[in-house]
Amino acid sequence: MGFDQHELALEEPQEGAKDLQTVNPLDYERVLIFFSGGKDSVACVLHLLELGVPKERIELHHHLIDGREGSELMDWPVTEAYCKAFADAMGIPITFSWKQGGFEREMLRNGQPTAPTMVPVGNDMVAIGGEGPVGTRMKFPQLAASLNVRWCSSYLKIGVGAAYITNNPKFVQGKTLVITGERAQESASRAKYQTFEPHRTDNRTGARIKRWIDHWRPVHAWTEQQVWEIIERWRIAPHPCYRLGWGRASCMLCIFGSKDQWASAAKIAPKKVIRIVDYEQQFKVTIHRTLSVEQLVAAGTPYNMDERLIALAMSTEYNEPIIVENWTLPAGAYGEGCGPT
Ligand code: SF4
Repeated sequence: MGFDQHELALEEPQEGAKDLQTVNPLDYERVLIFFSGGKDSVACVLHLLELGVPKERIELHHHLIDGREGSELMDWPVTEAYCKAFADAMGIPITFSWKQGGFEREMLRNGQPTAPTMVPVGNDMVAIGGEGPVGTRMKFPQLAASLNVRWCSSYLKIGVGAAYITNNPKFVQGKTLVITGERAQESASRAKYQTFEPHRTDNRTGARIKRWIDHWRPVHAWTEQQVWEIIERWRIAPHPCYRLGWGRASCMLCIFGSKDQWASAAKIAPKKVIRIVDYEQQFKVTIHRTLSVEQLVAAGTPYNMDERLIALAMSTEYNEPIIVENWTLPAGAYGEGCGPT
């Protein structure tokens, strides 16, 4: 069978079942949760378990923003280990995918095609693509809702997830329910998302390959309070960044970072932030329209951060319990969300 990552990867969602009011995850052979490690994706997992979806039908899937080829530019070092620890604590399998070289290689494209995407097929990781049209970026993604210029979301998450589904033959067997954790409350653009629709990789009426993939956003209507309530109910330790003061678990050096987040990142990972500053100077284009990262750091106030939590967040190991005895609301709850991902 000829699976092709570009087959449907960046098409608009199809019309169809989007008016469906009730989604029954038990109607599906498998439930694939795109799991960032952030609070909303944790809430999705817990919600599905509360709905009685058997763990054997659930798979968590995480996209590694920096890839696994040595770049450490953008993400929290602990994120992969936290996602794995959460999956293990829940007794649910987790898989990973990434664009080779991650964010940094994509940003440094200079007359080159986008790198291959690594997706799991059986017990192997398979490289998909890499021979596409040449292009040049040599700048950070732009701060915009449009995924055309905010290329990190489309190239490092959405396209990678689509490549996984369109290149792994298991997804042509039975129906798959894809789950993501966007909430309407986060932004005006997210408020417009459908709660339920065929996923961009759906091809249920295809002549050659039939693939039934629905996309459900089960926490779309939830408030942040509901998200923290379900996490408290299950006594789940949130990603360490929330405990440091971040309101959102995105890339550590997310392009949407507030001045206080940049100042906090500069305090705990000065070398990482200097690399961003160096790239801004090299590209002669700053991330923020008017302020350089250096100016954002100077204008911000670092959070009041605990040394033990800093060490945990900056480690590639997560060696604390996921289910905790005494759950407390993290410092970053109800704080600065800072931008869509
Ligand atoms: S978290 Fe921020 S920097 Fe990372 S992929 Fe999303 S928008 Fe881009």
